[in-house]
Amino acid sequence: VSAAQKVSSGLFALVFPDTCRICDSPLSEVSRVPVCRRCLSEPEPLSAEYLCINCHAPFVTPHPLDAEGRCGLCRRGLTGFDSAYAFGIYDGTLRRLIQLFKYGNVPTLAGPLSLLLSLAAPRERAFDAIVPMPMHWRRRWQRGFNQSELLARGLGRRMNLPVESLVRRRKSTPPQAGLTGAQRRTNVSGAFAVRRAEAVGGKRILLIDDVLTTGATAGACASVLKRAGAAHVAVLTVARADRRSSDADAAQMSFQKSATPSGSVRDAKSGSTT
Ligand SMILES: [Zn+2]
Ligand SMILES: [Zn+2]
Repeated sequence: VSAAQKVSSGLFALVFPDTCRICDSPLSEVSRVPVCRRCLSEPEPLSAEYLCINCHAPFVTPHPLDAEGRCGLCRRGLTGFDSAYAFGIYDGTLRRLIQLFKYGNVPTLAGPLSLLLSLAAPRERAFDAIVPMPMHWRRRWQRGFNQSELLARGLGRRMNLPVESLVRRRKSTPPQAGLTGAQRRTNVSGAFAVRRAEAVGGKRILLIDDVLTTGATAGACASVLKRAGAAHVAVLTVARADRRSSDADAAQMSFQKSATPSGSVRDAKSGSTT
């Protein structure tokens, strides 16, 4: 090992951890992302026996779906958005990657995660703009970045679409964890406002967020865009909560953030998915 190599690996060790923050295996390549290749390629696309034709919610049986293939929320027009897409289920390595991205202060993960977004983006429909889910300024200030904005920018580059922050967050809503879908919809109503209605009218919008839980927050945001005249609002997230079993739901509700001093995020905790 040459002196130069020693110096560069020494510098590398200063800036980057020498092990993957997900699986702890040694990192061999110089990368801005402290996660190994295997962990980055591990998340699998969502698959289910039955999916709602609009919101793509997965179901174990066909019973929640009507003759047209819509789930109860979509049938009753309660979602607020026209359609929703997600790469995978919010579980396992995908969940840990998203938690590391948001709570472990690893904004560079926006690159690999926006690749997953591009894989899940609807092909059958054209869009005029990508809009990130806005974050209240106070929370953004605490975290240092809006994860949805970073994801939206990464996706904008991949899809060659403009990223427009057309919505702002008016109020900081209480955490959604532990609330039912209906309570969540009440909790976030009035949380969003359109910045310039004239920039929204007639547009086909792809609204970006990291995780779709009940869809209440994304729905509230989509609603203000639709009221301002958006022609179509599709929600696209990296992951969505799996509500196929009540166990998964309970785990989802109770998970909380836990970051070790090195910043790695341990499994099964994390505060507010919205
Ligand atoms: Zn790994
Ligand atoms: Zn649906």
